[in-house]
Amino acid sequence: MVNPAGGTLPRDIQNFINGAYCPSATHKRFESRNPADNALSALVHEASREDVERAVTAAKSALHGPWGQMSLNERASLLNRVADLIMERAGDLARAEVNDTGKLFGPTLKGEIPRGAQQFSVFAEITRTHFSFPDIPSDIPGGGRAVNHPARTPKGVIAAICPWNLPFILSTWKIAPALACGNTVVVKPSEETPVTATLLGEIMNEAGIPPGVYNVVNGFGPNSAGEFLVSHPDIDAITFTGETRTGAAIMARAAADIKDVSLELGGKNAGIIFADCDFDKAVAATAMSVFHNCGQVCLCTERLYIERPIFDKFVHALKEKAESLTPGDPRDPLTTLSPLISRDHREKVLKYFELARTDGATIVTGGGVPEMEGRLAEGAWIQPTIWTGLLESSRVIKEEVFGPVCHIAPFDEESEAVAMVNNSSYGLAATVWSGDIPRARRVAAQIEAGIIWVNAWMIRELKSPFGGFKKSGIGREGGEFSLDFYTEIKNVCILGE
Ligand code: NAD
Repeated sequence: MVNPAGGTLPRDIQNFINGAYCPSATHKRFESRNPADNALSALVHEASREDVERAVTAAKSALHGPWGQMSLNERASLLNRVADLIMERAGDLARAEVNDTGKLFGPTLKGEIPRGAQQFSVFAEITRTHFSFPDIPSDIPGGGRAVNHPARTPKGVIAAICPWNLPFILSTWKIAPALACGNTVVVKPSEETPVTATLLGEIMNEAGIPPGVYNVVNGFGPNSAGEFLVSHPDIDAITFTGETRTGAAIMARAAADIKDVSLELGGKNAGIIFADCDFDKAVAATAMSVFHNCGQVCLCTERLYIERPIFDKFVHALKEKAESLTPGDPRDPLTTLSPLISRDHREKVLKYFELARTDGATIVTGGGVPEMEGRLAEGAWIQPTIWTGLLESSRVIKEEVFGPVCHIAPFDEESEAVAMVNNSSYGLAATVWSGDIPRARRVAAQIEAGIIWVNAWMIRELKSPFGGFKKSGIGREGGEFSLDFYTEIKNVCILGE
């Protein structure tokens, strides 16, 4: 039994460069606070341009050191060792993640940390078995036979820029395939959640990953570590997860050097619920999809379209689910609602609450800040909120709120529901609930989104493709789909006898 309050977490978060922790060259530090009670949890060293330079140089030279000479089997066994060590340190990593994000301890320990470990073993296996290609003989004019050998090679030094909402899962999702493909990485965790990427440095050293292969620089975006990193000429590709407008800024910087980008961006995910669905299952899973992690998962649902015969019943049932959630200490197993990431983010969410009122929404439940007692009164708490009655043109329906909120509207025709779902500049995920599977397939085929669940939410096989349509991103990551971003393909054509 892991004690959520046990152990000690680092309170001085340094950068991790060339296998060693190092203070910022400028000695600039910023505060990291626990979202549940706003208590100061750590001081973080902000990487200067000089620190980023050292990290990228270390990553570049590590590419050509022992890491670059390693066999696929050797590399895979080191990455499997990383996965084992993550599991040995699961308690520390879960405590760090809860402290940084306010996530619930139980699901983090049992779900997100093992998932992070699994990324290393899954990608180690995929790359170990994928790199041998069959010969492809082809006839060429003038006689003779040429044999083509397409071979994947590492892309080089990868910059991984990460968000705060699922820090360990989303950073390992980038680090594991990058390393499994033979690249080196410089990671920039979110300024809000630096600790698990930092602890991973200890694990990399213990596993025997050579110095310089994994580096971490801390700081912010513009005019700080994020911008210094993406504009560095020796970065070969950038993998970014975060807001759409940050992705646009990063893509613009990357264009100058023709750097490849993989962008996992925002969403305004929708669910279509038909009257013939399994009602109780649909309500339970939809409640998860709206309120899980306080609505701060890129896959969370913020728009719901319900077939008219069950509209009132569904709104009532989801209201009951929302009102049954209990905010509290994230380490307490009885807590079912976590806080938002920060009070700044709460200000943003509260502006949407105001906008919904101005636009004439009916507030079914929530719409404010819950009363919390003691030290938790300082935390970034918010009420789960459901609206009805907004026009589809309202900014509340168009823009990502990234909180525990949804708007529910009725529909009469299947085509009307599909049109409303697709009337969005985003296209990350969607859910369809129906007992009629041919209909669910037909609807899924028409929805403009990269991930569609039928009668489910959030089942995520690590080997399946992940990514968004439209302003939700560029590229697909996950399993073999990650290989196209993390490798260059070189074809060697040998003319035979
Ligand atoms: P954000 O865009 O504010 O920040 C993400 C990261 O980018 C942080 O590390 C930040 O410091 C850095 N950054 C900011 N400006 C930068 C710049 N100019 N140059 C380089 N780096 C810069 O996003 P966030 O608030 O941390 O995360 C929430 C957002 O992430 C939501 O929009 C959510 O939908 C999205 N998200 C998407 C996915 C997905 O897979 N599509 C997954 C998780 C989160």
